Amino acid sequence: MARILITSAIPYINGIKHLGNLIGSQLPADLYARYQRGRGNEVMFLCATDEHGTPAELAAAKAGKPVAEYCADMYAVQADIAKRFGLSFDHFGRSSSEQNRHLTQHFAGKLDEAGLIREVSEKQVYSNADGRFLPDRYIEGTCPNCGYDHARGDQCENCTKQLDPTDLIEPRSAISGSTDLEVRETKHLYLRQSAMKDQLDAWIDSKTDWPILTTSIAKKWLHDGDGLQDRGITRDLDWGVPVKKGDQDWPGMEGKVFYVWFDAPIEYIACAKEWADANGKTDADWERWWRTDKGADDVRYVQFMGKDNVPFHTLSFPATILGSGEPWKLVDHLKSFNYLNYDGGQFSTSQGRGVFMDQALEILPADYWRWWLLSHAPESSDSEFTWENFQQSVNKDLADVLGNFVSRITKFCRSKFGEAVPEGGEFGAREQELIAELTRRIRAYEEHMESMEVRKSAQELRAIWVAGNEYLQSAAPWSTFKEDPEQAAAQVRLGLNLIRLYAVLSAPFIPDASARMLSAMNTLDTGWPDSADAALNALPAGHGFAVPDVLFAKITDEQREDWQTRFAGTRD
Ligand SMILES: [Zn+2]
Repeated sequence: MARILITSAIPYINGIKHLGNLIGSQLPADLYARYQRGRGNEVMFLCATDEHGTPAELAAAKAGKPVAEYCADMYAVQADIAKRFGLSFDHFGRSSSEQNRHLTQHFAGKLDEAGLIREVSEKQVYSNADGRFLPDRYIEGTCPNCGYDHARGDQCENCTKQLDPTDLIEPRSAISGSTDLEVRETKHLYLRQSAMKDQLDAWIDSKTDWPILTTSIAKKWLHDGDGLQDRGITRDLDWGVPVKKGDQDWPGMEGKVFYVWFDAPIEYIACAKEWADANGKTDADWERWWRTDKGADDVRYVQFMGKDNVPFHTLSFPATILGSGEPWKLVDHLKSFNYLNYDGGQFSTSQGRGVFMDQALEILPADYWRWWLLSHAPESSDSEFTWENFQQSVNKDLADVLGNFVSRITKFCRSKFGEAVPEGGEFGAREQELIAELTRRIRAYEEHMESMEVRKSAQELRAIWVAGNEYLQSAAPWSTFKEDPEQAAAQVRLGLNLIRLYAVLSAPFIPDASARMLSAMNTLDTGWPDSADAALNALPAGHGFAVPDVLFAKITDEQREDWQTRFAGTRD
């Protein structure tokens, strides 16, 4: 039994995620976790909310709540939606947890001991009206280049020129609009990534099985221009992990917090401790997943994320781990995704454009979305959601192919043989041919799933469903029955066993429908079909079943048009 640690990029706390976020990390990670569990492997699947930083503070202010209360509320909302989408995390944690605070401070202390932290004095804009330092992007003013009057302190959105806040004409706080700003001296900690460049470079070079997309991004950051830069890991904010050296104070850093990008990936580790603490486990129980000196040396660690997160996962987080000098587990494989676009444009959280996770579940059950999103995962390039394509894919793959197969064979059996697997007859040449095809396709499905080729896995699964339908069409037990009821019984027996086989193979994609298929077949046998032949004899003659309700309803043209209109605008 292999041991597999899986983490999904952690979603930011300020609002409900859209379907593009979902397919970019959490959903394919869930697919992989469910598959590996289905194969009998030991899986630890972790995700969390990313809660620190200025955007959370501002979202809380907008909601009229203290930031800790806002985060607790939004965490509950995100956890509930994740559950309803069938995301099977072993634990869904919070980066604001006490466990992460402790571990983040611990890492900072170790990095400092290793001589990898330096203090830097900087000049930063302070807003007297807001009583706080302003991050560059929260300073607005007129662009000196094009005259656009809402340019941000880091960049002008209009002409794309990179800016310093001091370049802006008539700068003001984007939070309060106040122009009572001054430049103050402040001190920050920098992680000396430049000192670790060769170590990181060698580590990336050792990853010969990583996709070029991933290694090329890491190499670019390592070598372009002056090479890998040191990185500020602290901020002048209230909301975050207080800067400490382990459990000791850090002189001169009072009142400051770690930068959200420093503490967020550490939550991958802290989340396992949260899991242990929440489930009455010991430290040894979670450390065997993360500490190579405590049992994690045989763990395979896989991360899922959008392509924009690759630099942080290939360089910054590994720099934290390697720099600590402690034997923490490093990522073994990293699966990154391109972007999903929405109906001719981009999904946008800030503009409320596209379909959000809560809205999706208001109109259809999770499996419909899971199937479409996974079978159209933006792997080799960006992909696009359109309502036409969604309707077509659901109606064809789920309703016409899979749902129809289940409905036809169970109803036919009930009408001719009753609600039990019929006995008599034997599998002939046609059945052996199907078994050979299924064997070949199941092995291909396993290979694609192992290598996290999400679209190819979906294509193979669809082909497996189609093979059953084609068999049923050509065997035509409703015709056979008239001349040779024994042979029809064998055909129906095979068909009913195929439903169980489909339930097992399809569970990573469509877990609810799979559970309903197993329930209809009145079985708890989720054994993986190592042999298609054996799997098609799993339910013996006489085994009772029930005709299930319609598995997947078709999407009508009226519904499609209605949803198209409803989601054309922006949400409140
Ligand atoms: Zn400009």
